Amino acid sequence: MFRYKAVNRKKFYFKSPNEKRRLASRRSETCVAILRVRRLAVRDFTIMPEHEKTLTINEIYHSIQGESTWVGCPCVFVRLTFCNLRCNYCDTEYAFYEGTKQTLKEIVDAVAAFRCPLVEITGGEPLLQKNVLPLMSILCDAGDTVLLETSGAHDISEVDPRVHRIMDLKTPGSGEVEKNLWSNIDHLSSRDEVKFVMGSREDYEWSRDKVQRYNLLSRCHAVLFSPIFGRIDPRQIVEWILADKLDVRFQLQMHKFIWSPTQRGV
Ligand code: SF4
Repeated sequence: MFRYKAVNRKKFYFKSPNEKRRLASRRSETCVAILRVRRLAVRDFTIMPEHEKTLTINEIYHSIQGESTWVGCPCVFVRLTFCNLRCNYCDTEYAFYEGTKQTLKEIVDAVAAFRCPLVEITGGEPLLQKNVLPLMSILCDAGDTVLLETSGAHDISEVDPRVHRIMDLKTPGSGEVEKNLWSNIDHLSSRDEVKFVMGSREDYEWSRDKVQRYNLLSRCHAVLFSPIFGRIDPRQIVEWILADKLDVRFQLQMHKFIWSPTQRGV
């Protein structure tokens, strides 16, 4: 008598070692077939038409660009869900988890409905979702000017070179300074902007040192110094910039003065 196994709750006896071998070989053929189907499914996903890929979107709205060298320009904002950082001054915590899945086609259609050629991809952290890369390329192909606001904690090298990247280098006061991905500095281009958000003299000096050490003024379009809203008197930062004769651009978050500082969708 050879080993048995339960089949449909009945005991099943192999008649001979050959039969056992035959069944084992049939089982391995089935496994190979299943793996082939799975591999095909993965390949199908990668060749999925770009427009059918999805992203989790927190909100899409039309407003005024409130920061960067594009400040004051009408702009469509596409805010993506999720962020792996927890900056202690974050004003978009609602984007950490809230959102709905949308296809790239739905997103592009929603953006086009505003008839505004300036589009900012923001978050949360947009680069956490890989399908944001084809989305930005589709928008560029459509003739839009595309801005990307990123924390700088993720590789920016794969972003379409037509995109204007606004990279936020985290200062010590954010609580997330360890997350800065310094290799991103080598990928900056004359389209890009580097932003420092600061709430103290320590943050200011840290930022000034990074501007000088990495020669940021010659690597990108603009270096932005911005106060943490409500934590430091903006005039203080301006005085330090002037005293040090730093060739950086001071900025305020304009939308927080036009609307309530906690207003969403503006
Ligand atoms: S990276 Fe941006 S969205 Fe994420 S916690 Fe920091 S400020 Fe908030």
